[in-house]
Amino acid sequence: MTAMDAVSLGIIGEGREKIPATKSSIDELERLEFLDDLGRVTTSTVCVEELQVGVQAIQLPCYHHYHQDCIVK
Ligand SMILES: [Zn+2]
Repeated sequence: MTAMDAVSLGIIGEGREKIPATKSSIDELERLEFLDDLGRVTTSTVCVEELQVGVQAIQLPCYHHYHQDCIVK
């Protein structure tokens, strides 16, 4: 399968935001100091590493969390 085939089949592209996001959209995101108040493991979807309590994190509207460093580059 070529890349163009994948695009036409909807496997690649269209509708998926890439990360890192643009600077302006980053500025609108909620920043917080990550608190593991539910006792569950939360991973940064970018680097797939655990978020440690107290690190600077960015919370998306869908409640996914990312390390600030993983997004702001
Ligand atoms: Zn990360």
